Amino acid sequence: MGRRSEVWIYKQPTEVNFGIGVRKTLSEIVERFGKKPVLVTDAALAEFPMTNGILANLQGALLFSEVEPNPTVKSVDRLAEIIRDNHCDVIAALGGGSSLDCAKAAGAVAVQEGSIRAYHSQGKKLDGRRLPLIAIPTTAGTGSEVTPISVLDDSEGGIKAPLAHDSFFPNVAVIDPELTLTLPRYQTACTGLDALAHAIEGYWSKNHQPICDVLALETVRLVLANLPKVIADGADIVARENMCRAALMGGMAFQLPKNAAVHACSFPLSSRYHQPHGAACAMTLDHFIRFNAPAMGDRGIALARAGGLETMEALADVVHQLKVQAGLPVKLSEIGVTASEIDALTDASFHPLMNNNPREVTPGELRSLYAQML
Ligand code: ZN
Repeated sequence: MGRRSEVWIYKQPTEVNFGIGVRKTLSEIVERFGKKPVLVTDAALAEFPMTNGILANLQGALLFSEVEPNPTVKSVDRLAEIIRDNHCDVIAALGGGSSLDCAKAAGAVAVQEGSIRAYHSQGKKLDGRRLPLIAIPTTAGTGSEVTPISVLDDSEGGIKAPLAHDSFFPNVAVIDPELTLTLPRYQTACTGLDALAHAIEGYWSKNHQPICDVLALETVRLVLANLPKVIADGADIVARENMCRAALMGGMAFQLPKNAAVHACSFPLSSRYHQPHGAACAMTLDHFIRFNAPAMGDRGIALARAGGLETMEALADVVHQLKVQAGLPVKLSEIGVTASEIDALTDASFHPLMNNNPREVTPGELRSLYAQML
């Protein structure tokens, strides 16, 4: 019996600035990288006084507020065009994963050729050139501030999938827990469960590795202790800060090992049934915790213990309870899936990330898991 290879690589090039009030240093950080910034956000956040405050502090900044909830190739191309036309030389992205992911891709396309669609859906290779990027998350979940991943929706091409490139790591992450205080309860729960899914999937990925394992276990501890608190009281700044830390560490925990079955299934659940990314991940998370438990052995016990529990089964129960507490869908029929759609949903769920799952998932097993979830 050969021992599993212990060769692994860890890297994390993003500078992290973390803490209450740290957003006030944003203009100094941006000035380190360029003179003509564009502030990228969505239409809802653009209305917030805090966004106006940030914009006013960024000398000569342009505002782009056309990012959609699941960013499309179209919005990436539009932002790239605006960057080129206005000769912007640095991007500050404020928002959830959508704004950050849109900015990562647009910053590359703006200095390379053509449309992001060629790179996202048609296999063209990015050459690594891009504008400097400062990521300012306003949710605690995606970890996009420290990952090289941009999840984009190409609705015409029928593809919602992550595009990863080493050049997509933001230069700096500015993580100010006060920016998450106004996040509504539902989004708080969705994004918090996304952070938990990143930790669990990075940990059980076939490519798991020691540093990411430690980050994953700490993320599980933080989410289980703090997510119920922020769902119950969004103004709890201590719990909000802990969730920001969880999102950051969860991002670091999966960006190298990559996600597995839960995220593979989330892509069609999100694009076909219009679910936020976190709700789409939460949908199958407790089910795959149960499914993968037999393949996890002692590592499964360690994962459960990180959350103060004894078994993976108990961890799955807690995830289910969190979904119920926050009013997230727990059955596929609640999001509009019908029995006749299960086969097509199964086929669409076999994204390459499925191959990272610690226990092999066959189409027949996934079909029956989905059928039980109706
Ligand atoms: Zn995710």
